[in-house]
Amino acid sequence: MATETMAIETLTSQKLNADTHLTKDVQLNADEAELQKFADLSHKWWDINSEFKPLHEINPLRLHWIDKLIALQGRKVLDVGCGGGILSESMYFKGAEVTGIDLGEKALNVAKLHQLESGAKVNYQYVSVEKLAEEQPASFDVVTCMEMLEHVPDPAAIVAACAKLVKPGGSVFFSTINRNPKSYLFAVIGAEYLLNMLPKGTHDYSKFIKPSELSTWARQADLNMADMRGMSYNPITKYYSLGDDVSVNYMMHTVLSI
Ligand code: SAH
Repeated sequence: MATETMAIETLTSQKLNADTHLTKDVQLNADEAELQKFADLSHKWWDINSEFKPLHEINPLRLHWIDKLIALQGRKVLDVGCGGGILSESMYFKGAEVTGIDLGEKALNVAKLHQLESGAKVNYQYVSVEKLAEEQPASFDVVTCMEMLEHVPDPAAIVAACAKLVKPGGSVFFSTINRNPKSYLFAVIGAEYLLNMLPKGTHDYSKFIKPSELSTWARQADLNMADMRGMSYNPITKYYSLGDDVSVNYMMHTVLSI
């Protein structure tokens, strides 16, 4: 573990030096404090008993849902805010050609190291979704942006950039956390304070997003909502399941107008 951590630190400082011009010159739609939270946990991305346990547990559910709707085999997929690559790798193993982007250098380095072990071949890049949208518009069959919108200053701009990156008729998938008293109780008090599933301060309630808000931003970007699914956690059985209850965690499937 010590060697792996050192390797991550070395790669990270090289990457930071190489990218200094990018972070200084471009006005990023990113919250430094949010990125730092993930950076501090970066060595734990693939530890299924760590703070990332919920992402590991929901991954088969969301992967299966996405695959059933659009059949990932042979698709060109972009995973926005890919973190350590939990979803990216699993989509690769379903036969997709996957690019993963994030503004967390440490997470990307973990993702790159992990695929040396797993044999996945995801193309990881440190680039903002807005910049990639300018460089490669309409070039992906599918874009996924999961559990990330609630961590950025201007989520509507991320939604618009995702829309710009997908081909006409292509799919964009989002997942985030609803904003209401129940989601506050479950996602903040429950997960961070009672169950200790997540570090305190992981989520900022004011940044949670109602499905009506997300679908409005999507529509403004020519993305039409095709489907929505709730992801519910049962604290007694400790299992997540998919269903119609979108009051806390939910996913949205949108399709770009042709
Ligand atoms: N999508 C992954 C990881 C979710 S955690 C999954 O669901 O498994 C949130 C991720 O969003 C972190 O890796 C964090 O670094 C990234 N992130 C936060 N703000 C970002 C931004 N503005 N641009 C790109 N990635 C961002």
